[in-house]
Amino acid sequence: MTLTHSLALIDVSAGTHELADLAAAHLPVDDLSTHRGDGIFETVLVTVTGGTHSVKARRLHFDRFRGSARALELPVPVAEVWDAAVDDVARAVIAGNPGVTEFSVRYTLSRGLDAPRGWVMSISLPEAYPAQRREGADFISLDRGFEAYAGQSAPWLLLGAKTLSYAANMAATRWAQEHGADDGLFISRDGLVLEGPTSNVIIRRGHELLTPDPKAGLLHGTTQQTIFAAAAEHGYLCSYADLTRDDLLTADGAWMVSSARVAVPFRSLDGEAVTMDPELTGQMYDWVTGAADDGTAGDTA
Ligand code: PLP
Repeated sequence: MTLTHSLALIDVSAGTHELADLAAAHLPVDDLSTHRGDGIFETVLVTVTGGTHSVKARRLHFDRFRGSARALELPVPVAEVWDAAVDDVARAVIAGNPGVTEFSVRYTLSRGLDAPRGWVMSISLPEAYPAQRREGADFISLDRGFEAYAGQSAPWLLLGAKTLSYAANMAATRWAQEHGADDGLFISRDGLVLEGPTSNVIIRRGHELLTPDPKAGLLHGTTQQTIFAAAAEHGYLCSYADLTRDDLLTADGAWMVSSARVAVPFRSLDGEAVTMDPELTGQMYDWVTGAADDGTAGDTA
Protein backbone atom coordinates (compact mmCIF):
# COMPACT_ATOMS: atom_id res chain seq x y z
CA MET A 1 0.00 0.00 0.00
CA THR A 2 1.47 3.37 -1.01
CA LEU A 3 1.08 5.75 1.92
CA THR A 4 0.99 9.51 2.17
CA HIS A 5 3.64 10.31 4.75
CA SER A 6 4.04 12.92 7.43
CA LEU A 7 6.88 14.84 9.10
CA ALA A 8 7.34 16.74 12.36
CA LEU A 9 10.33 18.95 13.13
CA ILE A 10 11.56 19.08 16.73
CA ASP A 11 12.94 22.23 18.29
CA VAL A 12 15.33 20.48 20.66
CA SER A 13 16.13 23.48 22.87
CA ALA A 14 12.49 24.65 23.18
CA GLY A 15 11.16 21.10 23.63
CA THR A 16 8.43 21.62 21.03
CA HIS A 17 7.51 20.22 17.63
CA GLU A 18 5.43 21.17 14.62
CA LEU A 19 4.12 19.23 11.66
CA ALA A 20 5.90 20.27 8.47
CA ASP A 21 5.62 19.77 4.72
CA LEU A 22 7.56 16.59 3.91
CA ALA A 23 8.20 17.77 0.35
CA ALA A 24 9.78 21.08 1.45
CA ALA A 25 13.51 21.57 2.18
CA HIS A 26 14.36 21.42 5.90
CA LEU A 27 17.91 20.13 6.32
CA PRO A 28 20.89 22.37 5.47
CA VAL A 29 23.55 20.52 3.50
CA ASP A 30 26.14 21.29 6.18
CA ASP A 31 24.15 19.44 8.86
CA LEU A 32 26.55 16.92 10.40
CA SER A 33 24.09 14.08 9.84
CA THR A 34 24.43 14.48 6.08
CA HIS A 35 28.14 13.89 5.61
CA ARG A 36 29.27 12.37 8.92
CA GLY A 37 26.25 10.24 9.83
CA ASP A 38 26.68 12.01 13.15
CA GLY A 39 23.41 11.41 14.93
CA ILE A 40 21.07 8.74 16.22
CA PHE A 41 17.70 7.32 15.28
CA GLU A 42 14.97 4.82 16.12
CA THR A 43 12.36 3.14 13.90
CA VAL A 44 9.16 2.09 15.66
CA LEU A 45 6.33 -0.07 14.39
CA VAL A 46 2.90 1.57 14.62
CA THR A 47 -0.26 -0.55 14.42
CA VAL A 48 -3.73 0.89 13.91
CA THR A 49 -6.98 -0.67 15.18
CA GLY A 50 -10.28 1.12 14.73
CA GLY A 51 -8.48 4.39 14.00
CA THR A 52 -6.41 4.19 17.20
CA HIS A 53 -2.65 3.86 16.92
CA SER A 54 -0.26 1.97 19.14
CA VAL A 55 3.51 2.52 19.15
CA LYS A 56 5.11 -0.88 19.72
CA ALA A 57 7.81 -1.08 22.42
CA ARG A 58 7.65 2.69 22.74
CA ARG A 59 9.60 2.81 26.03
CA LEU A 60 12.26 0.27 24.99
CA HIS A 61 12.92 2.30 21.84
CA PHE A 62 13.14 5.55 23.73
CA ASP A 63 15.44 4.11 26.40
CA ARG A 64 17.77 2.92 23.64
CA PHE A 65 17.54 6.37 21.98
CA ARG A 66 18.66 7.96 25.25
CA GLY A 67 21.48 5.42 25.55
CA SER A 68 22.61 6.20 22.00
CA ALA A 69 22.55 9.94 22.82
CA ARG A 70 24.78 9.32 25.83
CA ALA A 71 27.20 7.23 23.76
CA LEU A 72 27.55 10.07 21.21
CA GLU A 73 27.57 12.80 23.87
CA LEU A 74 24.43 14.38 22.43
CA PRO A 75 21.88 16.09 24.69
CA VAL A 76 19.76 13.37 26.24
CA PRO A 77 16.28 13.56 24.63
CA VAL A 78 13.16 14.21 26.72
CA ALA A 79 10.47 11.53 26.30
CA GLU A 80 7.42 13.82 26.40
CA VAL A 81 8.77 15.95 23.53
CA TRP A 82 9.44 13.02 21.22
CA ASP A 83 6.34 11.00 22.24
CA ALA A 84 4.12 13.96 21.35
CA ALA A 85 5.75 14.33 17.92
CA VAL A 86 5.54 10.58 17.20
CA ASP A 87 1.84 10.60 18.12
CA ASP A 88 1.11 13.65 15.95
CA VAL A 89 2.86 12.08 12.96
CA ALA A 90 0.98 8.81 13.51
CA ARG A 91 -2.35 10.66 13.69
CA ALA A 92 -1.52 12.56 10.49
CA VAL A 93 -0.73 9.29 8.68
CA ILE A 94 -4.02 7.75 9.82
CA ALA A 95 -5.93 10.88 8.74
CA GLY A 96 -4.25 10.84 5.33
CA ASN A 97 -4.54 7.07 4.75
CA PRO A 98 -7.92 5.69 5.83
CA GLY A 99 -7.68 1.94 6.34
CA VAL A 100 -3.95 1.89 7.11
CA THR A 101 -3.11 -0.88 9.61
CA GLU A 102 0.70 -0.86 9.95
CA PHE A 103 3.51 1.59 9.22
CA SER A 104 6.78 2.75 10.75
CA VAL A 105 7.80 6.03 12.32
CA ARG A 106 11.47 6.98 12.35
CA TYR A 107 12.79 9.61 14.73
CA THR A 108 16.21 11.17 14.40
CA LEU A 109 18.47 13.41 16.46
CA SER A 110 21.33 14.92 14.45
CA ARG A 111 24.30 16.76 15.91
CA GLY A 112 23.17 19.51 13.54
CA LEU A 113 25.85 22.14 13.07
CA ASP A 114 25.55 24.90 15.66
CA ALA A 115 22.84 23.06 17.60
CA PRO A 116 21.27 19.60 17.51
CA ARG A 117 18.34 19.10 15.18
CA GLY A 118 15.51 16.56 15.50
CA TRP A 119 12.76 15.26 13.27
CA VAL A 120 10.15 12.51 13.15
CA MET A 121 8.76 11.03 9.95
CA SER A 122 6.59 8.12 8.89
CA ILE A 123 7.84 5.49 6.46
CA SER A 124 6.23 2.50 4.77
CA LEU A 125 7.15 -1.05 5.76
CA PRO A 126 9.36 -2.76 3.17
CA GLU A 127 7.10 -4.64 0.74
CA ALA A 128 9.03 -7.91 1.09
CA TYR A 129 8.38 -8.34 4.81
CA PRO A 130 4.79 -9.71 4.92
CA ALA A 131 5.73 -12.59 2.55
CA GLN A 132 8.99 -13.23 4.46
CA ARG A 133 7.06 -13.45 7.74
CA ARG A 134 4.94 -16.23 6.20
CA GLU A 135 7.45 -18.06 4.01
CA GLY A 136 10.80 -17.36 5.64
CA ALA A 137 13.88 -15.85 4.06
CA ASP A 138 17.31 -16.95 2.85
CA PHE A 139 20.42 -15.58 4.55
CA ILE A 140 24.13 -15.75 3.94
CA SER A 141 26.79 -15.29 6.56
CA LEU A 142 29.04 -12.24 6.19
CA ASP A 143 32.32 -11.50 7.95
CA ARG A 144 31.72 -8.56 10.33
CA GLY A 145 35.40 -7.66 10.11
CA PHE A 146 36.07 -7.60 13.86
CA GLU A 147 36.13 -10.05 16.77
CA ALA A 148 33.18 -10.50 19.11
CA TYR A 149 33.26 -8.17 22.11
CA ALA A 150 35.47 -5.70 20.16
CA GLY A 151 33.42 -2.84 21.57
CA GLN A 152 34.74 -3.57 25.07
CA SER A 153 38.20 -2.34 24.12
CA ALA A 154 37.06 0.05 21.36
CA PRO A 155 34.00 1.93 22.68
CA TRP A 156 34.39 4.51 19.90
CA LEU A 157 33.05 1.90 17.48
CA LEU A 158 29.68 2.75 19.11
CA LEU A 159 28.54 -0.83 18.51
CA GLY A 160 25.62 -0.70 20.93
CA ALA A 161 24.35 2.68 19.73
CA LYS A 162 21.88 3.18 16.89
CA THR A 163 23.78 5.82 14.94
CA LEU A 164 22.99 7.22 11.51
CA SER A 165 26.15 5.57 10.08
CA TYR A 166 24.36 2.74 8.26
CA ALA A 167 26.17 2.76 4.92
CA ALA A 168 28.12 -0.42 5.79
CA ASN A 169 24.94 -2.20 6.95
CA MET A 170 23.16 -1.23 3.73
CA ALA A 171 26.17 -2.44 1.72
CA ALA A 172 26.00 -5.80 3.54
CA THR A 173 22.32 -6.27 2.61
CA ARG A 174 23.05 -5.31 -1.02
CA TRP A 175 25.96 -7.76 -1.10
CA ALA A 176 23.74 -10.55 0.26
CA GLN A 177 21.02 -9.79 -2.29
CA GLU A 178 23.50 -9.65 -5.16
CA HIS A 179 24.56 -13.15 -4.07
CA GLY A 180 21.05 -14.61 -4.17
CA ALA A 181 19.94 -14.23 -0.54
CA ASP A 182 17.37 -11.95 1.09
CA ASP A 183 19.77 -10.58 3.69
CA GLY A 184 23.05 -11.16 5.50
CA LEU A 185 23.99 -12.57 8.89
CA PHE A 186 27.04 -10.93 10.46
CA ILE A 187 29.61 -13.34 11.94
CA SER A 188 32.50 -12.08 14.04
CA ARG A 189 36.11 -12.78 13.00
CA ASP A 190 36.25 -15.41 15.75
CA GLY A 191 33.13 -17.19 14.54
CA LEU A 192 30.26 -15.91 16.70
CA VAL A 193 26.86 -15.03 15.30
CA LEU A 194 26.22 -11.30 15.85
CA GLU A 195 23.15 -9.88 14.08
CA GLY A 196 21.69 -8.97 10.69
CA PRO A 197 22.40 -5.56 9.12
CA THR A 198 19.06 -4.32 10.54
CA SER A 199 17.87 -7.17 12.78
CA ASN A 200 18.66 -9.53 15.65
CA VAL A 201 18.83 -13.32 15.69
CA ILE A 202 16.82 -15.62 17.97
CA ILE A 203 17.07 -19.42 17.88
CA ARG A 204 14.92 -22.07 19.56
CA ARG A 205 16.40 -25.21 21.10
CA GLY A 206 13.55 -27.18 22.65
CA HIS A 207 12.06 -24.93 25.31
CA GLU A 208 15.01 -22.55 25.20
CA LEU A 209 15.22 -19.31 23.22
CA LEU A 210 18.72 -17.95 22.71
CA THR A 211 20.08 -14.71 21.26
CA PRO A 212 23.62 -13.32 21.00
CA ASP A 213 24.84 -11.17 23.89
CA PRO A 214 24.52 -7.47 22.94
CA LYS A 215 27.98 -6.90 24.48
CA ALA A 216 29.42 -9.12 21.73
CA GLY A 217 29.04 -6.14 19.37
CA LEU A 218 25.47 -5.63 18.24
CA LEU A 219 22.42 -3.54 18.83
CA HIS A 220 20.25 -4.66 21.76
CA GLY A 221 16.93 -5.11 19.92
CA THR A 222 13.59 -3.97 21.25
CA THR A 223 11.80 -6.73 19.32
CA GLN A 224 14.07 -9.41 20.79
CA GLN A 225 13.40 -8.01 24.29
CA THR A 226 9.62 -7.94 23.71
CA ILE A 227 9.67 -11.52 22.42
CA PHE A 228 11.81 -12.72 25.34
CA ALA A 229 9.47 -11.09 27.89
CA ALA A 230 6.39 -12.74 26.35
CA ALA A 231 8.11 -16.09 25.72
CA ALA A 232 9.26 -16.26 29.35
CA GLU A 233 5.62 -15.91 30.41
CA HIS A 234 4.81 -18.82 28.08
CA GLY A 235 7.34 -21.10 29.75
CA TYR A 236 10.40 -20.61 27.52
CA LEU A 237 13.81 -20.28 29.11
CA CYS A 238 15.28 -17.17 27.47
CA SER A 239 19.00 -16.38 27.58
CA TYR A 240 21.83 -14.43 25.96
CA ALA A 241 24.57 -16.72 24.71
CA ASP A 242 27.54 -16.99 22.38
CA LEU A 243 26.16 -18.76 19.27
CA THR A 244 27.89 -20.14 16.20
CA ARG A 245 26.66 -20.74 12.67
CA ASP A 246 26.30 -24.46 13.54
CA ASP A 247 24.01 -23.61 16.46
CA LEU A 248 21.74 -21.92 13.95
CA LEU A 249 21.84 -24.77 11.45
CA THR A 250 20.96 -27.34 14.13
CA ALA A 251 18.32 -25.22 15.91
CA ASP A 252 14.61 -26.11 16.08
CA GLY A 253 13.91 -22.70 14.56
CA ALA A 254 15.76 -19.45 13.89
CA TRP A 255 14.44 -15.95 13.27
CA MET A 256 15.59 -12.49 12.25
CA VAL A 257 13.62 -10.05 14.37
CA SER A 258 13.25 -6.28 14.15
CA SER A 259 10.57 -3.64 14.60
CA ALA A 260 9.57 -3.54 10.93
CA ARG A 261 10.01 -7.28 10.17
CA VAL A 262 8.68 -8.45 13.52
CA ALA A 263 9.86 -12.10 13.11
CA VAL A 264 11.10 -13.57 9.83
CA PRO A 265 12.09 -17.26 10.01
CA PHE A 266 15.37 -18.42 8.53
CA ARG A 267 14.50 -20.73 5.62
CA SER A 268 18.16 -21.26 4.79
CA LEU A 269 21.64 -20.13 5.76
CA ASP A 270 24.41 -20.27 3.15
CA GLY A 271 22.18 -22.56 1.07
CA GLU A 272 21.59 -25.09 3.88
CA ALA A 273 17.99 -25.56 5.06
CA VAL A 274 17.09 -24.30 8.53
CA THR A 275 14.18 -25.85 10.48
CA MET A 276 11.08 -23.64 10.43
CA ASP A 277 8.58 -23.35 13.28
CA PRO A 278 5.45 -21.64 11.89
CA GLU A 279 3.57 -21.89 15.19
CA LEU A 280 6.16 -19.95 17.16
CA THR A 281 6.57 -17.50 14.25
CA GLY A 282 2.86 -16.69 14.55
CA GLN A 283 3.09 -16.39 18.32
CA MET A 284 6.04 -14.00 18.02
CA TYR A 285 4.00 -11.81 15.65
CA ASP A 286 1.05 -11.79 18.06
CA TRP A 287 3.26 -11.04 21.07
CA VAL A 288 4.94 -8.08 19.36
CA THR A 289 1.92 -6.55 17.63
CA GLY A 290 -0.45 -7.33 20.50
CA ALA A 291 1.73 -5.73 23.17
CA ALA A 292 0.22 -2.63 24.74
CA ASP A 293 1.56 0.79 23.82
CA ASP A 294 3.56 1.54 26.96
CA GLY A 295 3.86 5.24 26.14
CA THR A 296 2.95 8.17 28.32
CA ALA A 297 1.50 10.39 25.61
CA GLY A 298 -1.59 8.19 25.19
CA ASP A 299 -3.30 6.71 22.17
CA THR A 300 -5.86 8.78 20.44
CA ALA A 301 -7.84 8.26 17.31
N1 PLP B 1 20.37 -4.66 14.83
C1 PLP B 1 20.50 -3.62 13.98
C2 PLP B 1 21.85 -3.31 13.43
C3 PLP B 1 19.38 -2.84 13.63
O1 PLP B 1 19.51 -1.81 12.79
C4 PLP B 1 18.11 -3.18 14.17
C5 PLP B 1 16.91 -2.40 13.85
O2 PLP B 1 16.84 -1.66 12.93
C6 PLP B 1 18.02 -4.27 15.03
C7 PLP B 1 19.17 -4.98 15.35
C8 PLP B 1 16.69 -4.68 15.61
O3 PLP B 1 16.27 -3.72 16.57
P1 PLP B 1 14.73 -3.48 16.90
O4 PLP B 1 14.14 -4.80 17.23
O5 PLP B 1 14.76 -2.57 18.07
O6 PLP B 1 14.08 -2.86 15.70
